[in-house]
Amino acid sequence: DQNEITSVVSTHVLETPDFPSEGVLFRDFTPLFCDGSAFARVVDLIAEQVTAKGGVDLVAGIEARGFLLCAAIGYKLGAGVVPIRKAGKLPAPTVTESYALEYAEATIEIGPHAVNKGDRVLLVDDVLATGGTMVAAATLMRKLGAEVVDSWVLLEIEALGGAKAMQAADLTFNTAMT
Ligand code: AMP
Repeated sequence: DQNEITSVVSTHVLETPDFPSEGVLFRDFTPLFCDGSAFARVVDLIAEQVTAKGGVDLVAGIEARGFLLCAAIGYKLGAGVVPIRKAGKLPAPTVTESYALEYAEATIEIGPHAVNKGDRVLLVDDVLATGGTMVAAATLMRKLGAEVVDSWVLLEIEALGGAKAMQAADLTFNTAMT
């Protein structure tokens, strides 16, 4: 259940202050990914909840840590997996979406054949901060005619307003911990 996901995830995170820049508390879930039974348990529990809500055709993960989650969750669900790439990694043609960061802009992209019209997609990433990345990922999926039915992260940093951004984009999300 949700309590078990929270307890496993929250005991398998490394926190590093002032990385990658002053004032940021970097959350690294490598300890979860390296612990075979903990990782399998979290993946199984997330997959159970996704199935209970009707399942999905595809699980899309955001580069790079989202890839680890989407591959495992997709395998468990028997769903396809879509890597959402940072700009510049894929040959043309791509579908791209740019979004604002604090002092810059970021771009993510996918190939045009990764998703079919009407596909039911679950978005996954390790951390939801401002929500900019997740909302941009959902926009990419929607540009290709897919339906984003839900999303999952391991951690929501509540103070950064991701929940509001998700709601404004008509997106739901689940988190292991806050
Ligand atoms: P945002 O677009 O602001 O929601 O940021 C989410 C993206 O940035 C995710 O792909 C995370 O991997 C990464 N991220 C943001 N803040 C942190 C943090 N404190 N620790 C680790 N990753 C983070």
